[in-house]
Formats: sequence, C-alpha cells, structure tokens
Amino acid sequence: MIRRTRQREAIEEVFQASRRPLAPGEVHEAALPAYPGLGLRTVYRQLKDMVDEGLIVGVDYPGQPLRYEWVSEKDHAHFICRRCRRVYDLEVDVPDVEITAPRGFTVMGQETVFYGLCPECGEGS
Ligand SMILES: [Zn+2]
Repeated sequence: MIRRTRQREAIEEVFQASRRPLAPGEVHEAALPAYPGLGLRTVYRQLKDMVDEGLIVGVDYPGQPLRYEWVSEKDHAHFICRRCRRVYDLEVDVPDVEITAPRGFTVMGQETVFYGLCPECGEGS
C-alpha cells in the first residue's frame, strides 16, 4: 500500500500543473507554497519513489541538471532555451525516423530536442 502523504501530494500537483520537466530544486520551490517547510532532501526521496513507481521519468541532457517529467503516453519533443537553460515540452508531432541500426545496437527509443529562446527570454531582448 502506498501512503500518499501531504508532501507527496504537493509534489505530484507540481508535476501535474507544470508544462515542462523540472529539476529537484524547481520542484522544491514550486511545492513550498502548498507545503511550507518541505525539505529539499524529502523532495529528492519522493522523486526517487515516484520514478520507482513509474509516475515520472528522468530527463537528462548534457550540461543540464537531471530533470523529471510526468510519464506521458504521447511522444513529444523537448525544447531547451539557450539563455535560461530551462527545458520545455513542445506539443508537436514528432516524426518517426526509421533507421537501420548498425549490428549489435538495439534501438529502444528516440528523442527530439529543439534549441532556441523561450518566450520569456526571446521577447524584448
Ligand atoms: Zn528562456
């Protein structure tokens, strides 16, 4: 039986409300108003549990902190802002690319990443 604590609910709500993958620090900051006193270490522990339960997955890009996002059934692309480095979900159709992998390689998935400026960074700058 999984005991859903209030702190866990606060963290899950952050993910459900968010439109982008979040680093533990970002989750912590966003969950604090709903759960004052929430510790960063608790956030890390809850995130690990949520990964184990298959609720969220890690989003890992080179030079970026490890982020997490709600597991979605729909393929989507990610967008990385060159300026603020935040990662966004892009609700666009991702083309399926058929490749013939070299011998010995097993392809298990594909990810599409776009780079540029997010609305906050792109406007008036
Ligand atoms: Zn930005």
